[in-house]
Amino acid sequence: MDRRYSALSHLECSRCTARFESGELHGTCGCGAPLLARYDLAAVADQVTPAGIAGREPSLWRYHELLPVSGPDFVVSLGEGMTPLLPLRRLGRALGVPRLLMKDEGPLPTATFKARGAAVGVSRAADLGAAGVAMPTNGNAGAAWAAYCARAALPFLVAMPADAPLITRSECVATVRRPTSWTA
Ligand SMILES: [Zn+2]
Repeated sequence: MDRRYSALSHLECSRCTARFESGELHGTCGCGAPLLARYDLAAVADQVTPAGIAGREPSLWRYHELLPVSGPDFVVSLGEGMTPLLPLRRLGRALGVPRLLMKDEGPLPTATFKARGAAVGVSRAADLGAAGVAMPTNGNAGAAWAAYCARAALPFLVAMPADAPLITRSECVATVRRPTSWTA
């Protein structure tokens, strides 16, 4: 049985369905749309069970077959673990939703759910040998990617509006690693 760490099979354009090799760096599709990661789901079904996954370390990486990183050596982690589902009983009663729950992503590194995407994206960038990462952001995503790029020692260039929240601007500045060629 093929027991690859990731069952990533290829990338596919979200608009025109063009297919791309997953082992290379890509930007968006020629049509301008972002690319989606596609997986060999039959192989995953042969390889793991829900009970097996539940018995793994409680972190984002327990789902590694369905993440695009090729091996554990490429995982860039800041300890992104599980987060609680909190019952909101009073608000639920007021809204007529008896079992209203809130997923509290605050315990994640940089305190937002953006840490999940940043952990996976930066890990895959390092996995593919990217020289650095650049992105536009309004705030939280930039802070999360800055933190994970710093963890991976990858240069990070972020563009954000001048009126973005001070706290996220400060987080990026505090964590970003500048290559000498970008600081002139
Ligand atoms: Zn396309």
